[in-house]
Amino acid sequence: MRLILFGPPGAGKGTQANNIANSYVAAHISTGDMLRAAVKNGADLGTLAKSYMDKGELVPDNVIIGIIKDRINEGDTKKGFMLDGFPRTIAQAEALSEMLEAESESIDTVVSIEVNDEEIIERILQRAKIEGREDDTEDIVRNRLNVYHNQTEPLKAYYESAGVLAEVDGMGTIDEVFERIQAVLEKVEL
Ligand code: AMP
Repeated sequence: MRLILFGPPGAGKGTQANNIANSYVAAHISTGDMLRAAVKNGADLGTLAKSYMDKGELVPDNVIIGIIKDRINEGDTKKGFMLDGFPRTIAQAEALSEMLEAESESIDTVVSIEVNDEEIIERILQRAKIEGREDDTEDIVRNRLNVYHNQTEPLKAYYESAGVLAEVDGMGTIDEVFERIQAVLEKVEL
């Protein structure tokens, strides 16, 4: 299964991605995790990415698309993969479609986790206390939400017209949301 896990920052994508990876697809590809690893390693990519991440801005499309191309070309994605945090712009989505089309492949489903802005801010500020992520302060979170609404949310229409969008209510417990996601994925697997 080739899956995109979609939603605003703090919707629970990372948590649900881990649940899905355990039960469905092996390769879990999180661009946020990859960038944070690059920052930690002191890689050039990390230095560049950090300047955007610290402000809650998106890392430039050409950089992210390059990373994803390399990652999708690794062998473990052949049986399927789950993208978490990518694509975030129309240009990224178009590049992904082209990459997959070149292999006669396509995205099977886009699970969009729906959570309202107030809940997101509350959750992220909570996460900040636990994980200590530097981009989890209130100002940066608000900027990330603006960036989401302006640049990323339009992708829902893109995938809806491709007939692969599935919206899932992201309010409630982790288990409740995972059950809703499972219901979607079971239909796709048939
Ligand atoms: P995340 O962990 O997915 O919330 O990503 C954290 C930060 O990494 C974002 O706020 C962006 O600065 C950057 N980032 C992650 N994925 C992407 C992407 N697909 N396009 C651009 N920037 C990204």
